[in-house]
Amino acid sequence: MSKVRTRFAPSPTGYMHIGNLRTALYAYLLTKHMGGDYILRIEDTDQERYVDGAVDLIYRTLKETGIKHDEGPDVGGDYGPYIQSERRNIYKEYAEKLVELGGAYYCFCDKERLDKLKEAQLAHKMTPKYDGCCRGLSKEEIEEKLKAGVPYVIRQKIDPHGTTSFEDAVFGKITVENSTLDDNVLLKSDGLPTYNFANVVDDHLMHITHVIRGNEYLSSTPKYNLLYQAFGWEIPTYIHVSPIIKENGKKLSKREGDASYEDFINKGYLKDAIINYIALLGWSPGGDKEIFTMDELIENFSIDGISKSPAVFDEKKLSWLNGEY
Ligand code: GLU
Repeated sequence: MSKVRTRFAPSPTGYMHIGNLRTALYAYLLTKHMGGDYILRIEDTDQERYVDGAVDLIYRTLKETGIKHDEGPDVGGDYGPYIQSERRNIYKEYAEKLVELGGAYYCFCDKERLDKLKEAQLAHKMTPKYDGCCRGLSKEEIEEKLKAGVPYVIRQKIDPHGTTSFEDAVFGKITVENSTLDDNVLLKSDGLPTYNFANVVDDHLMHITHVIRGNEYLSSTPKYNLLYQAFGWEIPTYIHVSPIIKENGKKLSKREGDASYEDFINKGYLKDAIINYIALLGWSPGGDKEIFTMDELIENFSIDGISKSPAVFDEKKLSWLNGEY
């Protein structure tokens, strides 16, 4: 088996949610348990969601909590943390390559046409979806438009027949009807990739073997797999993790001061207690032991112990653990 490589791939959109920190931790524990490498990748190609200072906060939190990446100038290597906005030429090159391979196509439809299409579909109670209008353009037509400087995007070409499945290590087999999938944009008209595309290209180029992330990505994963297949790339193992919720079923919220790592530090909780607590939120090592050092977490971690059901956050438990440190 090739060396295990995992990554934490946060988007710098604000504070460090405790759920994100847990994702970072699980990926780290899995890699270290298996003697692999841990990659940090900042997914910042969506400029509209970018929040100043968020990248520094990510670095600071990971450093403070001892979740250390293995590649980068600061750890002796040449690369990393990887910053997607500095890699835009790579995504463009791969989008064009995918067009050559037949897995994507140029689309020159303007906003006006797309808005009308959407309106008409909604009026017929249909889920808005691109109608494939530019799929049939000839090579000459495409070249002509490119030469004339007509703005374009590159879309994924999805065969609407049949189904796509993948095996998630926590959720089991997930299957979707291809007819429900859209020919999503991979490369936007400003030359920047969309989130899904950059994510797949980077996971491949960075030799990621295990993708650990929140289960909000479960439904888009089949589309990722179609990209892997179109490129002829090996699909990584997917490990989707359920969210952390409150006892009342609601989400942890920044407004109520119980969502971010900093919220808990500010309330006086110790870093080690927070790490210990979130490690056990949604993962069970088996047995009764409740207090773990980072090394013990690494030693005990396994994918099998990750739970499918949402984890319920119990501040009383965190408080108890805190008292034990
Ligand atoms: N950039 C995504 C986020 O911050 C993570 C996606 C992934 O890990 O694949 O939610």
